[in-house]
Amino acid sequence: TTDLSPISEKTLNSILEKNRNYYTQGKVADYIPELGKMDAKAIAFSVVDKSGKVFSTGDVQKKFTMQSISKIIALMVAVNERGETNVFDKMGYFGSDRPFNHFSNLETTGKPLNPMMNAGAILTTSLISGEGEKPFLKVLDMVRYITKNSTIEYSKSVYESEKSTGHRNRGMFYIMKNSGLISGNEDQLDNYFKQCSIELTAEDLAKIGYFFANQCVRFDGDSQYKNADIAKLIESQMLTAGMYEFSGEYSRMVGLPSKSGVGGGITVSVPGKMGIGVFSPALDQHGNSLAGYHIILDLAKQYNLSIF
Ligand code: GLU
Repeated sequence: TTDLSPISEKTLNSILEKNRNYYTQGKVADYIPELGKMDAKAIAFSVVDKSGKVFSTGDVQKKFTMQSISKIIALMVAVNERGETNVFDKMGYFGSDRPFNHFSNLETTGKPLNPMMNAGAILTTSLISGEGEKPFLKVLDMVRYITKNSTIEYSKSVYESEKSTGHRNRGMFYIMKNSGLISGNEDQLDNYFKQCSIELTAEDLAKIGYFFANQCVRFDGDSQYKNADIAKLIESQMLTAGMYEFSGEYSRMVGLPSKSGVGGGITVSVPGKMGIGVFSPALDQHGNSLAGYHIILDLAKQYNLSIF
């Protein structure tokens, strides 16, 4: 049944409480050692409605790293700078049916499947112009702009942890450097690790979801980046590749452009309507927040949010 009553903190709270215990069935990511320190019990849920009003419940002050969610921001920055054709000459629009760190087509066609899996994301970040840390700072600034939160920083400890253990990502970086897709030095890989280490809250994620749901207009109505076409591009990537190899089943179950990260966050765009942000660090076997997924599923059912 569809609930036509407006979103309220009470609604969010009852959905959160119903799904709180899913964390016991999931597992906090520890392949990046620093991530393993997260509190598995933390949980937060935020919605920004059509009018830009923010509703939150749970541990909304709790910060966590964006991880893969940063990939949609980097894609936006790269496409804004170079144009879509130039970026997608070097990678595909394919959906994800493999884990996030799969080498996919690198050894065959040479091109990453899409900008949401690690290979394509590392390449995307390398396409943002500027020396040294500059491309990362552009991604960080865009996150700060979209969330209107200038206090957002990256976690140095998560960054160091990723940099010292990310050998698989380093391998992809050098395969793409070998084939000429990547032209810079390892600063570019560091920029990818840094963007993954940006720390924010579920509320910030809901604002990011809102932004892409509303033609790149910010939740407070600021429209300096308004661009319906880029929003469509990002949302289409979120829908087909945003939830790792679970993306296909997720689009059947939830039916909304969404992007998850191994830090336990998921950002969701309800096109033309709202943004949703959830956080619970215990993950399922694909790398998606388990409680987060169930929260989104319940909200989408209750308000009939699927785009289909
Ligand atoms: N920094 C993580 C990695 O590259 C991101 C993975 C993710 O969130 O999917 O391994």
